[in-house]
Parts: sequence; structure tokens; C-alpha cells
Amino acid sequence: MEYGDRYQHIPRPQYDCLLFDVDDTLYPLNSGLSKDVTNNIIEYMSNKLGIKDKVTELNFQLYKDYGTTMAGLKAIGYDFDYDDFHSFVHGRLPYEILKPDPVLKSLLQSLPVRKVIFSNANEEHVASILGRLGLEDCFEGVISFETLNPMKKTDLLDDENDVNSNGSKQRPILTSEINVFNTETNVEVPKTPVVCKPFEAAFELAFKTANIDPQRTLFFDDSIRNLETAKLMGLHTVLVGSSHKTKGVDYALESIHNIREALPELWESIKMTEEVCYAEAVAIETQVRA
Ligand SMILES: [Mg+2]
Repeated sequence: MEYGDRYQHIPRPQYDCLLFDVDDTLYPLNSGLSKDVTNNIIEYMSNKLGIKDKVTELNFQLYKDYGTTMAGLKAIGYDFDYDDFHSFVHGRLPYEILKPDPVLKSLLQSLPVRKVIFSNANEEHVASILGRLGLEDCFEGVISFETLNPMKKTDLLDDENDVNSNGSKQRPILTSEINVFNTETNVEVPKTPVVCKPFEAAFELAFKTANIDPQRTLFFDDSIRNLETAKLMGLHTVLVGSSHKTKGVDYALESIHNIREALPELWESIKMTEEVCYAEAVAIETQVRA
């Protein structure tokens, strides 16, 4: 038997990458951490930016329109330092309320598929969350605010691959180049310089950075809006935090812990591959002994 023939019937797993949001996806919404994030953002808007009227409503609306309040605040003209915002909003969080999650760790480690983080949050926040949950060794890479917005720190690109044939630096696609619409009224709202989910530019950058084929990637997020864009971009989508499937959602999990019940095929294809490999090994051994 030719080697090509031998491996032809080994089933190829449907997915070669699992892409995960962090907040309210890898830990439950009822942990309370997101409530603290919201409170800190409102405090930042009020105390640091001097916004006094309807701060809660504005925060909610900007989050809905732009994916993050920070992106919305920049869009409507507020000038502030990104690191200052992140340290105020995330740097004071009571991370100790999150406990190690050995169940999730074991689920993730039992899947020999690439796993990548894709979060709008800054890298320090992502590292703190993964550290508290005990999942820091479970992911091949992290796509964070800094990955999506490299110029926000240095204002320069250090990736030589981004140099054009004419020698000039090629800037990544900015969300500011894309029209932003209010999701309810479909009226265009001011553009933002921040690249973040749910905008297509963020997904394109994530695919390029982590070498992701969206057709062979399963994306987990608690935001319906993120999942809708993800679906348009070719990803297979999993809503986490609700078992109610909606538009743009292929699978819906009440908790990330339900991944095995909802997606047994992730483990089935691995089992089948192992079984075929074992059968081949036995067949070869028998031929050699005969
Ligand atoms: Mg989230």
C-alpha cells in the first residue's frame, strides 16, 4: 500500500484552530468582574473625562455601537491615553474573585488543536485573567488590544513584512476607514481610530497575525454582535453564556464547560484518527510478522 493511500481515509478534523474571547467567555458573567469593569469605565468617564450627563446610558450606547466604550469615546472626540484608560479600568479589578478552573483546563488540554485568544482587552488584563483561571499554558497565542492597535503604543510599525514594494510602510486597516452604524437605527455614527471586535478589520488582522483559516476555525464569544461579524468573515461560531441560538450562531453553550456536550465531534475526530492510526499500526505489524 502506498503511503498516500494509507493516510487517505484518515478523517481530517473539521477545525484546526479554536479562537477564544476572554471576558464573560472563559469565566461566567455572574463572576461579577464585568460589573466592576463597567463601574470603572463609568468612573473614568465621569472623573477623568468630566462627562456628567447620562454617563451610564452613554457607556451602554458606545459599547453597543463600537464594541468597546473606549473606541466610542475616541470616536466622539475624547482625548485620553490608552494605557491610562486600561490601568484605571482593568488595573484596579479584584482579580482574586476568579478561581482556578481545572475542569476547563483539562477540556482545553484534551484537544490537540491550536488555541488562540482574541480579546479587545489589553494584554496585561488578558494575562491576569488567564493566570487566575490557571489557563496560561493552554493557548498558543494572544491577540489583544496591543496586537490590533500596534501604533497606539509606538506610532510606528516594527514589522518589516509591512513594508511595501516601494519601500514605504504599510499601515494596517483602521476601523476609522470603515463606516460605523448604530445597530438599531442603522444611522452612521462617527468613526473611531480603535481597531476592535466586532469590526471586520479586527478579524482580518487577527487572521493575518495568527495565520488563521476562518473556514477551519471555531470562534467562541459571548457577544452576539462579534459572532455576527465572525460568521460573515467565514468563522464557525459558538455563543457562550446562553443556550439560545440566534442569527450568526452555529452552537450555543450556557457555559464554556459544556463544550464537550455541545461539540462532541471535536473529540470524535481525534478518537477516529487515533483508531485508524492504531489499526494501521497493527496491520503493518501483522504484515511484517507474516
Ligand atoms: Mg466577552
